[in-house]
Amino acid sequence: MTTNTSAPQKLYLMQLGTSTVSVAGRTLEMVLGCYLVETSDGKHILIDSGLPADVPLPAGRPPAEHEQGKNVIEQLGDLGLRPDDIDFLICTHFDLDHAGYHDAFTKAELIVQREHYALARSGHPRFAAARPHWDHPALRYRLIDGDTELLPGLTLLETGGHTPGHQSVLVRLPQSGPVLLAIDAVVMQRLFTPDRKAWPLDDNEEQLRASTRKLLELVESEQVELVIFGHDGQQWQTLKKAPAYYE
Ligand SMILES: [Zn+2]
Repeated sequence: MTTNTSAPQKLYLMQLGTSTVSVAGRTLEMVLGCYLVETSDGKHILIDSGLPADVPLPAGRPPAEHEQGKNVIEQLGDLGLRPDDIDFLICTHFDLDHAGYHDAFTKAELIVQREHYALARSGHPRFAAARPHWDHPALRYRLIDGDTELLPGLTLLETGGHTPGHQSVLVRLPQSGPVLLAIDAVVMQRLFTPDRKAWPLDDNEEQLRASTRKLLELVESEQVELVIFGHDGQQWQTLKKAPAYYE
């Protein structure tokens, strides 16, 4: 590899908070997270930005069951980075727990699926809560259509179903090989099956199942050994978190 290529070198997982929730009668450990990729030529790519500081906890969730960790700005600071050091911000979707600090990244180019951006901009109520953060006039967007290689070794995958135009991310690392960030296409490891069911916040079960199958096939075809699920608290306990990283 020559020195002027831009390829992923490090992947950081930032754990922003944890909570315990009840879904279909089971108690689940959930995690809120975002990700940072550093490339061989020193670029920084942030994937999502977490819950904003200005929202109360979701209704019906006692504070004791939710533990807020360091936010994305503090976690970047621990790595010696400021928001202006971020070159790209990949927006997987505009749910509140994924887009709450987007407005801090005014020097970055924000990458989102055109379908998702159009739906959110049209005033869809689901994305209204985070709108002051993702629809800030100082933000620069690049709208993409479907699967897109952002740079060699980093591919955005259209995985609608949780929301229209949701995206997952495949990152190829020098030692770990391909790592799949499923985000909310597959929030828990146990849902990574071809005949999975939707959860209450999922928009379209048929699309969600098709996206899950697409990711299952990708794991086979690309020989992905690590799939990181969007909110799986049990899995995240076993993963390296920033300041440690995958390389
Ligand atoms: Zn989420």
